[in-house]
Amino acid sequence: MIRVGLGIDIHPWAAGRPLILGGVEIPSERGLLGHSDADVLTHAVAEALLGALGLGDLGQNFPDTDPRYRGIRSLILLREVLGLVRARGGRVQNVDSTLIAQAPRLSEWLDPMKKALAQALEVPVDRVSVKAKSPEGMGVLGREEGMAALAVVGVEVGGDG
Ligand code: MG
Repeated sequence: MIRVGLGIDIHPWAAGRPLILGGVEIPSERGLLGHSDADVLTHAVAEALLGALGLGDLGQNFPDTDPRYRGIRSLILLREVLGLVRARGGRVQNVDSTLIAQAPRLSEWLDPMKKALAQALEVPVDRVSVKAKSPEGMGVLGREEGMAALAVVGVEVGGDG
């Protein structure tokens, strides 16, 4: 059977931080604030994977009170989540995701993000979708207070599920 997972994440902007999205560093004068590298897209994908198997959220699995996770590359967290999924017999089928950001322009970075996420998840790149959506100036995201990401994943689990 296929189990579907949903992940949502949001981080505030912060000056003087790198902007890492889907494991890719995007040229930017500011980045996102967070305990790890604040990779909002990778966090959404990881939470979707955890959600597909009912394994809680990222904070429960990788507490931000644990110094081991300070500044950690989120692709490494995603690899750990993949290990949890596989340990339960799960096989990642596909990922669909959307970044919601007023700025910067992300269109040229979507393919590199897909490749990095696909590599981390050990699936062909055509199983991973990354899109970007402008909030059209509305709300906290439109006022550029932060960036959000949504992800859904399909995970196949063994025969009698
Ligand atoms: Mg996060």
